[in-house]
Amino acid sequence: MSDDLGALFRRHVCQTSDAPLGIAVARAERATIWDTSGRPYLDLLAGMGVANVGHGRPEVVEAIRAQAARHLHVMVYGEFVEEPQVRLAARLAGLLAPGLDVVYFTSTGAEAVEGALKTARKHTGRARFVAFDGSYHGDTMGALSVGGNPLYRTPFEPLLPDVDFLPFGDVAALDAVDDRTAAVIVEPVQAEAGVRIPPPGFLPALRRRCDATGALLLLDEVATGFGRTGRLFAHEHAAIVPDILILAKALGGGLPLGAFVGPARIMATLAHDPPLAHVTTFGGHPLSCAAGVAALDVLVHEGLVARAAALGERLQADLRRLVGRGGLVAVRGVGMLIGLELDAAGACARFAARALERGVLLNWTLHRDTVVRLAPPLVLTDAEAADAVARLADALAG
Ligand code: PMP
Repeated sequence: MSDDLGALFRRHVCQTSDAPLGIAVARAERATIWDTSGRPYLDLLAGMGVANVGHGRPEVVEAIRAQAARHLHVMVYGEFVEEPQVRLAARLAGLLAPGLDVVYFTSTGAEAVEGALKTARKHTGRARFVAFDGSYHGDTMGALSVGGNPLYRTPFEPLLPDVDFLPFGDVAALDAVDDRTAAVIVEPVQAEAGVRIPPPGFLPALRRRCDATGALLLLDEVATGFGRTGRLFAHEHAAIVPDILILAKALGGGLPLGAFVGPARIMATLAHDPPLAHVTTFGGHPLSCAAGVAALDVLVHEGLVARAAALGERLQADLRRLVGRGGLVAVRGVGMLIGLELDAAGACARFAARALERGVLLNWTLHRDTVVRLAPPLVLTDAEAADAVARLADALAG
Protein backbone atom coordinates (compact mmCIF):
# COMPACT_ATOMS: atom_id res chain seq x y z
CA MET A 1 0.00 0.00 0.00
CA SER A 2 1.35 3.44 -0.82
CA ASP A 3 2.37 4.98 2.51
CA ASP A 4 0.18 8.01 2.11
CA LEU A 5 -2.92 6.10 1.18
CA GLY A 6 -2.38 3.56 3.96
CA ALA A 7 -1.95 6.26 6.59
CA LEU A 8 -4.97 8.19 5.34
CA PHE A 9 -7.00 4.95 5.34
CA ARG A 10 -6.15 4.32 8.97
CA ARG A 11 -6.71 7.94 10.03
CA HIS A 12 -9.84 8.89 8.09
CA VAL A 13 -11.69 5.75 7.06
CA CYS A 14 -13.49 4.45 10.16
CA GLN A 15 -11.71 1.30 11.27
CA THR A 16 -13.85 -1.70 12.18
CA SER A 17 -11.03 -3.84 13.54
CA ASP A 18 -7.45 -3.38 14.63
CA ALA A 19 -6.25 -5.74 11.92
CA PRO A 20 -7.76 -4.81 8.54
CA LEU A 21 -6.42 -6.77 5.57
CA GLY A 22 -5.21 -3.45 4.19
CA ILE A 23 -4.69 -4.59 0.59
CA ALA A 24 -4.52 -1.48 -1.62
CA VAL A 25 -6.67 -2.50 -4.58
CA ALA A 26 -5.62 -1.55 -8.07
CA ARG A 27 -8.04 -3.66 -10.10
CA ALA A 28 -9.99 -6.91 -10.13
CA GLU A 29 -10.95 -9.34 -12.88
CA ARG A 30 -12.86 -12.61 -12.61
CA ALA A 31 -11.27 -14.40 -9.60
CA THR A 32 -8.17 -12.22 -9.24
CA ILE A 33 -7.54 -8.98 -7.37
CA TRP A 34 -4.30 -7.04 -7.98
CA ASP A 35 -2.84 -4.67 -5.43
CA THR A 36 -1.11 -1.40 -6.30
CA SER A 37 2.29 -3.10 -6.36
CA GLY A 38 1.00 -5.45 -9.08
CA ARG A 39 0.71 -8.49 -6.83
CA PRO A 40 -2.22 -10.80 -7.73
CA TYR A 41 -4.43 -12.45 -5.12
CA LEU A 42 -6.64 -15.43 -5.90
CA ASP A 43 -9.96 -14.32 -4.46
CA LEU A 44 -11.77 -17.13 -2.64
CA LEU A 45 -14.24 -14.72 -1.04
CA ALA A 46 -15.80 -12.87 -3.98
CA GLY A 47 -16.23 -9.78 -1.80
CA MET A 48 -18.07 -11.98 0.73
CA GLY A 49 -20.32 -13.62 -1.83
CA VAL A 50 -21.00 -10.63 -4.07
CA ALA A 51 -18.95 -11.34 -7.21
CA ASN A 52 -20.61 -14.66 -8.11
CA VAL A 53 -20.13 -13.93 -11.84
CA GLY A 54 -16.58 -12.74 -11.17
CA HIS A 55 -15.06 -9.31 -10.79
CA GLY A 56 -15.16 -6.69 -13.52
CA ARG A 57 -17.33 -8.58 -15.97
CA PRO A 58 -17.45 -6.49 -19.18
CA GLU A 59 -21.17 -7.33 -19.60
CA VAL A 60 -21.92 -5.81 -16.20
CA VAL A 61 -19.63 -2.81 -16.67
CA GLU A 62 -21.21 -2.10 -20.06
CA ALA A 63 -24.74 -2.26 -18.60
CA ILE A 64 -23.72 0.24 -15.91
CA ARG A 65 -22.12 2.51 -18.50
CA ALA A 66 -25.20 2.42 -20.75
CA GLN A 67 -27.59 3.14 -17.88
CA ALA A 68 -25.34 5.95 -16.56
CA ALA A 69 -25.60 7.59 -19.98
CA ARG A 70 -29.42 7.45 -19.75
CA HIS A 71 -30.06 8.52 -16.16
CA LEU A 72 -28.86 8.08 -12.59
CA HIS A 73 -31.17 8.64 -9.62
CA VAL A 74 -34.28 10.56 -10.63
CA MET A 75 -36.92 9.99 -7.96
CA VAL A 76 -37.49 8.30 -4.62
CA TYR A 77 -38.55 4.65 -4.64
CA GLY A 78 -41.86 3.60 -6.08
CA GLU A 79 -42.97 6.72 -7.96
CA PHE A 80 -41.49 6.56 -11.45
CA VAL A 81 -41.41 3.68 -13.91
CA GLU A 82 -37.66 3.02 -14.16
CA GLU A 83 -36.88 0.38 -16.73
CA PRO A 84 -33.89 -1.36 -15.02
CA GLN A 85 -35.95 -1.80 -11.82
CA VAL A 86 -38.98 -3.15 -13.65
CA ARG A 87 -36.87 -5.51 -15.78
CA LEU A 88 -35.02 -6.92 -12.77
CA ALA A 89 -38.21 -7.33 -10.71
CA ALA A 90 -39.96 -9.14 -13.57
CA ARG A 91 -36.88 -11.29 -14.18
CA LEU A 92 -36.68 -12.33 -10.50
CA ALA A 93 -40.40 -13.10 -10.41
CA GLY A 94 -39.94 -15.33 -13.47
CA LEU A 95 -37.14 -17.27 -11.78
CA LEU A 96 -38.82 -17.71 -8.39
CA ALA A 97 -41.69 -19.95 -7.33
CA PRO A 98 -45.20 -18.72 -8.16
CA GLY A 99 -46.28 -16.24 -5.49
CA LEU A 100 -42.84 -14.70 -5.02
CA ASP A 101 -43.61 -12.07 -7.59
CA VAL A 102 -43.62 -8.62 -5.96
CA VAL A 103 -40.17 -7.14 -5.33
CA TYR A 104 -39.28 -4.29 -2.98
CA PHE A 105 -35.76 -3.07 -3.76
CA THR A 106 -33.45 -1.66 -1.10
CA SER A 107 -29.79 -0.68 -1.14
CA THR A 108 -28.40 -3.33 1.23
CA GLY A 109 -29.15 -6.69 2.80
CA ALA A 110 -29.77 -5.28 6.27
CA GLU A 111 -32.21 -2.79 4.83
CA ALA A 112 -34.08 -5.61 3.09
CA VAL A 113 -34.25 -7.46 6.43
CA GLU A 114 -35.68 -4.32 8.07
CA GLY A 115 -38.32 -4.02 5.36
CA ALA A 116 -39.25 -7.70 5.64
CA LEU A 117 -39.61 -7.47 9.45
CA LYS A 118 -41.82 -4.37 9.14
CA THR A 119 -43.91 -6.01 6.44
CA ALA A 120 -44.43 -9.10 8.60
CA ARG A 121 -45.51 -7.06 11.61
CA LYS A 122 -47.93 -4.94 9.63
CA HIS A 123 -49.37 -7.82 7.60
CA THR A 124 -49.95 -10.13 10.58
CA GLY A 125 -50.70 -7.50 13.23
CA ARG A 126 -48.41 -9.52 15.53
CA ALA A 127 -45.30 -8.37 17.37
CA ARG A 128 -43.09 -11.37 18.13
CA PHE A 129 -40.14 -12.52 16.02
CA VAL A 130 -38.37 -15.86 16.19
CA ALA A 131 -34.78 -16.22 14.99
CA PHE A 132 -31.97 -18.75 15.46
CA ASP A 133 -28.78 -19.04 17.46
CA GLY A 134 -25.79 -18.19 15.31
CA SER A 135 -27.78 -16.26 12.70
CA TYR A 136 -26.52 -13.15 10.95
CA HIS A 137 -28.95 -10.75 9.25
CA GLY A 138 -27.05 -7.46 9.21
CA ASP A 139 -26.04 -4.69 11.55
CA THR A 140 -28.87 -2.15 11.59
CA MET A 141 -30.91 -2.10 14.81
CA GLY A 142 -33.77 -4.31 13.57
CA ALA A 143 -31.50 -6.77 11.77
CA LEU A 144 -29.20 -6.90 14.79
CA SER A 145 -32.18 -7.63 17.03
CA VAL A 146 -32.68 -10.93 15.18
CA GLY A 147 -28.93 -11.67 15.07
CA GLY A 148 -28.09 -14.85 16.95
CA ASN A 149 -24.86 -13.90 18.66
CA PRO A 150 -25.15 -12.05 22.01
CA LEU A 151 -21.57 -10.80 21.67
CA TYR A 152 -22.65 -8.45 18.90
CA ARG A 153 -26.10 -7.61 20.33
CA THR A 154 -25.27 -6.80 23.93
CA PRO A 155 -23.31 -3.55 23.42
CA PHE A 156 -26.24 -2.07 21.49
CA GLU A 157 -29.14 -3.05 23.72
CA PRO A 158 -31.95 -2.31 24.20
CA LEU A 159 -32.87 -3.67 20.79
CA LEU A 160 -36.29 -4.85 19.51
CA PRO A 161 -38.33 -6.49 22.27
CA ASP A 162 -40.15 -9.80 21.80
CA VAL A 163 -37.45 -11.67 19.88
CA ASP A 164 -36.71 -15.28 20.80
CA PHE A 165 -33.85 -17.45 19.58
CA LEU A 166 -34.16 -21.17 18.94
CA PRO A 167 -31.38 -23.70 18.32
CA PHE A 168 -30.64 -23.81 14.58
CA GLY A 169 -31.52 -27.14 12.98
CA ASP A 170 -33.55 -28.44 15.93
CA VAL A 171 -36.99 -29.51 14.67
CA ALA A 172 -38.39 -30.17 18.16
CA ALA A 173 -37.66 -26.58 19.21
CA LEU A 174 -39.96 -25.24 16.48
CA ASP A 175 -42.97 -25.74 18.77
CA ALA A 176 -41.96 -22.37 20.24
CA VAL A 177 -43.26 -20.71 17.05
CA ASP A 178 -46.81 -19.74 18.05
CA ASP A 179 -49.82 -17.70 16.99
CA ARG A 180 -48.30 -14.54 18.49
CA THR A 181 -45.35 -14.85 16.13
CA ALA A 182 -45.30 -12.34 13.26
CA ALA A 183 -42.41 -14.05 11.53
CA VAL A 184 -39.57 -16.49 11.77
CA ILE A 185 -36.36 -15.33 10.09
CA VAL A 186 -33.82 -17.93 9.02
CA GLU A 187 -30.87 -18.53 6.70
CA PRO A 188 -30.93 -21.79 4.71
CA VAL A 189 -27.22 -22.18 5.58
CA GLN A 190 -25.72 -20.05 8.35
CA ALA A 191 -22.62 -18.66 6.67
CA GLU A 192 -21.30 -16.46 9.48
CA ALA A 193 -21.91 -19.16 12.08
CA GLY A 194 -19.24 -21.27 10.39
CA VAL A 195 -21.14 -22.57 7.35
CA ARG A 196 -23.72 -24.45 9.44
CA ILE A 197 -25.96 -26.68 7.34
CA PRO A 198 -29.23 -27.75 8.99
CA PRO A 199 -30.50 -31.35 8.73
CA PRO A 200 -32.60 -31.90 5.56
CA GLY A 201 -35.95 -31.97 7.39
CA PHE A 202 -35.45 -28.69 9.23
CA LEU A 203 -36.66 -26.11 6.69
CA PRO A 204 -39.68 -28.19 5.61
CA ALA A 205 -40.63 -28.61 9.31
CA LEU A 206 -40.24 -24.87 9.83
CA ARG A 207 -42.43 -24.22 6.76
CA ARG A 208 -45.13 -26.50 8.22
CA ARG A 209 -44.94 -24.86 11.64
CA CYS A 210 -45.30 -21.39 10.09
CA ASP A 211 -48.31 -22.58 8.08
CA ALA A 212 -49.88 -24.03 11.22
CA THR A 213 -49.44 -20.85 13.27
CA GLY A 214 -49.82 -18.12 10.63
CA ALA A 215 -46.29 -16.83 11.25
CA LEU A 216 -44.55 -15.65 8.08
CA LEU A 217 -41.39 -17.44 7.01
CA LEU A 218 -38.70 -14.90 6.10
CA LEU A 219 -35.80 -16.58 4.34
CA ASP A 220 -32.52 -14.67 4.30
CA GLU A 221 -30.68 -15.70 1.13
CA VAL A 222 -28.36 -12.71 1.13
CA ALA A 223 -25.31 -14.99 1.33
CA THR A 224 -26.74 -18.11 -0.35
CA GLY A 225 -28.57 -16.69 -3.39
CA PHE A 226 -27.64 -16.55 -7.05
CA GLY A 227 -26.02 -19.93 -7.51
CA ARG A 228 -23.75 -19.87 -4.48
CA THR A 229 -24.96 -23.25 -3.18
CA GLY A 230 -25.31 -24.98 -6.54
CA ARG A 231 -28.97 -24.06 -6.98
CA LEU A 232 -30.15 -20.61 -8.09
CA PHE A 233 -31.54 -20.16 -4.56
CA ALA A 234 -30.69 -22.41 -1.62
CA HIS A 235 -34.32 -22.97 -0.62
CA GLU A 236 -34.68 -25.07 -3.80
CA HIS A 237 -32.58 -27.78 -2.05
CA ALA A 238 -35.26 -28.04 0.65
CA ALA A 239 -38.18 -27.70 -1.80
CA ILE A 240 -39.86 -25.01 0.30
CA VAL A 241 -41.15 -21.57 -0.64
CA PRO A 242 -40.78 -18.77 1.91
CA ASP A 243 -43.41 -16.07 2.43
CA ILE A 244 -40.72 -13.43 1.99
CA LEU A 245 -37.34 -13.99 0.37
CA ILE A 246 -34.52 -11.60 1.31
CA LEU A 247 -31.77 -10.95 -1.23
CA ALA A 248 -28.67 -8.75 -1.57
CA LYS A 249 -24.94 -9.25 -2.20
CA ALA A 250 -24.77 -10.89 -5.70
CA LEU A 251 -28.16 -9.38 -6.64
CA GLY A 252 -26.56 -6.09 -7.74
CA GLY A 253 -23.71 -7.65 -9.72
CA GLY A 254 -21.19 -5.63 -7.66
CA LEU A 255 -23.29 -2.53 -7.01
CA PRO A 256 -25.28 -2.00 -3.80
CA LEU A 257 -28.69 -3.62 -4.05
CA GLY A 258 -30.99 -5.59 -1.78
CA ALA A 259 -34.56 -6.80 -2.10
CA PHE A 260 -37.35 -8.54 -0.28
CA VAL A 261 -39.77 -10.48 -2.42
CA GLY A 262 -43.22 -11.78 -1.56
CA PRO A 263 -46.72 -12.32 -2.88
CA ALA A 264 -48.94 -9.31 -3.64
CA ARG A 265 -51.31 -10.21 -0.78
CA ILE A 266 -48.48 -9.61 1.72
CA MET A 267 -46.48 -6.89 -0.02
CA ALA A 268 -49.61 -4.75 -0.57
CA THR A 269 -49.56 -3.85 3.12
CA LEU A 270 -46.84 -1.25 2.46
CA ALA A 271 -49.14 0.86 0.27
CA HIS A 272 -51.88 1.67 2.78
CA ASP A 273 -52.63 2.65 6.40
CA PRO A 274 -50.60 4.77 5.98
CA PRO A 275 -49.70 5.05 2.30
CA LEU A 276 -45.92 5.21 1.86
CA ALA A 277 -45.58 2.92 4.87
CA HIS A 278 -42.01 2.09 3.88
CA VAL A 279 -39.98 4.24 1.49
CA THR A 280 -36.36 4.71 0.51
CA THR A 281 -34.50 7.23 -1.62
CA PHE A 282 -31.91 5.02 -3.24
CA GLY A 283 -33.48 1.52 -3.07
CA GLY A 284 -33.44 -0.09 -6.50
CA HIS A 285 -30.97 2.42 -7.91
CA PRO A 286 -31.10 2.29 -11.72
CA LEU A 287 -27.37 1.57 -12.01
CA SER A 288 -27.61 -1.28 -9.49
CA CYS A 289 -30.65 -2.80 -11.19
CA ALA A 290 -29.05 -2.54 -14.64
CA ALA A 291 -25.95 -4.28 -13.24
CA GLY A 292 -28.20 -6.87 -11.58
CA VAL A 293 -29.95 -7.75 -14.85
CA ALA A 294 -26.58 -8.09 -16.62
CA ALA A 295 -25.15 -10.27 -13.83
CA LEU A 296 -28.21 -12.49 -13.87
CA ASP A 297 -27.84 -12.89 -17.65
CA VAL A 298 -24.22 -13.96 -17.21
CA LEU A 299 -25.14 -16.37 -14.41
CA VAL A 300 -27.82 -18.05 -16.51
CA HIS A 301 -26.14 -17.99 -19.94
CA GLU A 302 -22.84 -19.34 -18.64
CA GLY A 303 -24.51 -22.09 -16.62
CA LEU A 304 -22.77 -20.90 -13.45
CA VAL A 305 -25.32 -22.46 -11.12
CA ALA A 306 -24.55 -25.97 -12.40
CA ARG A 307 -20.87 -25.08 -12.38
CA ALA A 308 -21.11 -24.08 -8.70
CA ALA A 309 -22.66 -27.46 -7.90
CA ALA A 310 -20.03 -29.48 -9.81
CA LEU A 311 -16.94 -27.42 -8.96
CA GLY A 312 -18.11 -26.98 -5.36
CA GLU A 313 -18.33 -30.73 -4.93
CA ARG A 314 -14.86 -31.29 -6.39
CA LEU A 315 -13.34 -28.45 -4.40
CA GLN A 316 -14.82 -29.81 -1.19
CA ALA A 317 -13.53 -33.31 -1.98
CA ASP A 318 -10.03 -31.97 -2.71
CA LEU A 319 -10.04 -29.90 0.47
CA ARG A 320 -11.29 -32.85 2.51
CA ARG A 321 -8.11 -34.70 1.54
CA LEU A 322 -6.22 -32.05 3.55
CA VAL A 323 -8.05 -32.89 6.79
CA GLY A 324 -5.52 -33.85 9.43
CA ARG A 325 -2.90 -31.38 8.23
CA GLY A 326 -2.08 -28.17 10.08
CA GLY A 327 -5.06 -28.40 12.45
CA LEU A 328 -7.72 -28.83 9.74
CA VAL A 329 -10.40 -31.04 11.32
CA ALA A 330 -13.36 -30.81 8.91
CA VAL A 331 -14.55 -29.45 5.59
CA ARG A 332 -18.23 -28.82 4.92
CA GLY A 333 -20.24 -26.85 2.46
CA VAL A 334 -22.99 -26.59 -0.08
CA GLY A 335 -21.80 -25.84 -3.60
CA MET A 336 -19.34 -22.98 -3.47
CA LEU A 337 -20.06 -21.96 0.13
CA ILE A 338 -17.43 -23.89 2.03
CA GLY A 339 -16.24 -23.89 5.63
CA LEU A 340 -12.87 -25.18 6.81
CA GLU A 341 -12.93 -26.06 10.50
CA LEU A 342 -9.64 -25.76 12.39
CA ASP A 343 -8.84 -27.17 15.79
CA ALA A 344 -8.31 -23.94 17.69
CA ALA A 345 -9.60 -20.38 17.72
CA GLY A 346 -6.27 -18.71 16.96
CA ALA A 347 -5.59 -21.17 14.14
CA CYS A 348 -8.01 -19.43 11.77
CA ALA A 349 -6.25 -16.08 11.82
CA ARG A 350 -2.87 -17.78 11.42
CA PHE A 351 -4.13 -19.92 8.54
CA ALA A 352 -5.78 -16.94 6.79
CA ALA A 353 -2.53 -14.97 7.19
CA ARG A 354 -0.45 -17.84 5.77
CA ALA A 355 -2.87 -18.20 2.85
CA LEU A 356 -2.60 -14.47 2.18
CA GLU A 357 1.21 -14.73 2.15
CA ARG A 358 0.70 -17.34 -0.59
CA GLY A 359 -1.57 -14.98 -2.52
CA VAL A 360 -4.89 -16.57 -1.53
CA LEU A 361 -7.67 -14.50 -0.06
CA LEU A 362 -10.02 -16.18 2.41
CA ASN A 363 -11.45 -15.15 5.73
CA TRP A 364 -12.80 -16.12 9.13
CA THR A 365 -16.51 -16.33 9.94
CA LEU A 366 -18.00 -13.75 12.29
CA HIS A 367 -19.60 -16.07 14.84
CA ARG A 368 -17.39 -19.14 14.80
CA ASP A 369 -13.75 -18.47 15.48
CA THR A 370 -12.61 -21.95 14.41
CA VAL A 371 -14.05 -21.79 10.89
CA VAL A 372 -12.62 -20.17 7.77
CA ARG A 373 -15.07 -19.51 4.95
CA LEU A 374 -14.59 -19.89 1.20
CA ALA A 375 -17.09 -18.29 -1.19
CA PRO A 376 -15.15 -18.04 -4.46
CA PRO A 377 -16.50 -16.47 -7.64
CA LEU A 378 -18.46 -19.18 -9.48
CA VAL A 379 -16.28 -18.52 -12.54
CA LEU A 380 -13.20 -19.89 -10.75
CA THR A 381 -11.49 -22.06 -13.37
CA ASP A 382 -10.49 -25.68 -12.78
CA ALA A 383 -6.84 -24.59 -12.89
CA GLU A 384 -7.45 -21.83 -10.35
CA ALA A 385 -9.30 -24.26 -8.08
CA ALA A 386 -6.40 -26.75 -8.24
CA ASP A 387 -3.93 -23.94 -7.62
CA ALA A 388 -5.99 -22.75 -4.62
CA VAL A 389 -6.00 -26.24 -3.09
CA ALA A 390 -2.23 -26.57 -3.57
CA ARG A 391 -1.56 -23.21 -1.97
CA LEU A 392 -3.93 -23.92 0.92
CA ALA A 393 -2.19 -27.28 1.46
CA ASP A 394 1.07 -25.40 1.66
CA ALA A 395 -0.43 -22.83 4.04
CA LEU A 396 -1.63 -25.65 6.31
CA ALA A 397 1.80 -27.32 6.21
CA GLY A 398 3.51 -24.02 7.02
N1 PMP B 1 -27.93 -11.45 5.85
C1 PMP B 1 -26.89 -12.25 5.61
C2 PMP B 1 -27.08 -13.73 5.62
C3 PMP B 1 -25.62 -11.70 5.35
O1 PMP B 1 -24.58 -12.50 5.13
C4 PMP B 1 -25.48 -10.30 5.33
C5 PMP B 1 -24.16 -9.63 5.03
N2 PMP B 1 -23.01 -10.35 5.30
C6 PMP B 1 -26.60 -9.49 5.60
C7 PMP B 1 -27.81 -10.11 5.83
C8 PMP B 1 -26.51 -8.01 5.60
O2 PMP B 1 -26.28 -7.50 4.34
P1 PMP B 1 -25.61 -6.07 4.18
O3 PMP B 1 -24.19 -6.17 4.65
O4 PMP B 1 -25.73 -5.78 2.70
O5 PMP B 1 -26.41 -5.12 4.99
